[in-house]
Amino acid sequence: MADGVLRRDRRALARAITLVESRRADHRAQALDLIAYLKPRTQRPALRIGLSGTPGVGKSTLIESFGLMLTGQGLRVAVLAVDPSSARTGGSILGDKTRMEHLSRDPLAFIRPSPSQTHLGGVARRTREAVALVEAAGFDVVLIETVGVGQSETLVAEMTDLFVLLLAPAGGDELQGVKRGIMEMADMILVNKADGDLKSAALRTVADYAGALHLLRKRPQDPAGFPKAMPVSAMDRVGLAEAWSDMSDLAQWRRAHGHFAQNRAAQDRHWFEAEVREGVLARLTQDPEIRAQMEKLGQSVAAGERAPSAAAATLLDLIRRT
Ligand code: GDP
Repeated sequence: MADGVLRRDRRALARAITLVESRRADHRAQALDLIAYLKPRTQRPALRIGLSGTPGVGKSTLIESFGLMLTGQGLRVAVLAVDPSSARTGGSILGDKTRMEHLSRDPLAFIRPSPSQTHLGGVARRTREAVALVEAAGFDVVLIETVGVGQSETLVAEMTDLFVLLLAPAGGDELQGVKRGIMEMADMILVNKADGDLKSAALRTVADYAGALHLLRKRPQDPAGFPKAMPVSAMDRVGLAEAWSDMSDLAQWRRAHGHFAQNRAAQDRHWFEAEVREGVLARLTQDPEIRAQMEKLGQSVAAGERAPSAAAATLLDLIRRT
């Protein structure tokens, strides 16, 4: 399977992603082996671009147009998704076959729906591992899409080199309630639907956000002019070449100034720590002995027989020993 991935065999890649998505313990062990084997054999990093936006803003239309533009330049494009809603609906934002109809048939493109998971942490891990797999399979650009609902943007920003926020033209002069924290993560804000009747509203929205971005604290990883807001029309395919040119310039600048590698190193460290924390928490909920002790100690704390901190210390001791 690993050699198939390295040979850029799509079926091997799809099977490898299925393996990292599996929750079976034996699959997990194989997945870790697979990723460890591929890591030193991965030729070069892809450019990982996070794309977030609320439903209806035009994400799939943009990915279709933008992806086709890139494959038209001979670039290999992978599309992955972090879908916080899939846990609830059991479906997937990329499961709908009508989305990205042309891109999905393009031999230079690979589209993978979001795995259904019960919690976002699990989705994040699997997406991150899928990114490693598509990188090993020689993709040049990885687009990671997410629906803007708050937490998922942070997860996607933590696994990408560039983070793009897609917005729709605003009606009035309100900033669409985009949270400051989300704006602070954005490297580029693309205001979509800058066409037809919506064009002037889109241009106003761009100006509003350009102003708002200007007021944010300057980050060391930004060259002059970034983060920036610009209009696009995913439908009419306008502004996409400019957006790509800016993304490439930004990535190039960050590579030249060390921010690209630094960011990835910090991300890897972050994910390592997050996974350790998750593992410890999983033991709390899965290990029957620890659970039983937790329950027993909890009751004794509630009954006033033990102090909370002393009981916690006892339990932590047990975790250390088992
Ligand atoms: P998603 O939910 O964010 O993936 O949004 P979609 O890509 O499915 O688009 C939602 C709606 O917006 C669809 O009806 C699209 O045809 C429309 N749409 C997407 N991009 C554009 C655009 O650039 N201009 C206009 N006018 N409509 C667009």
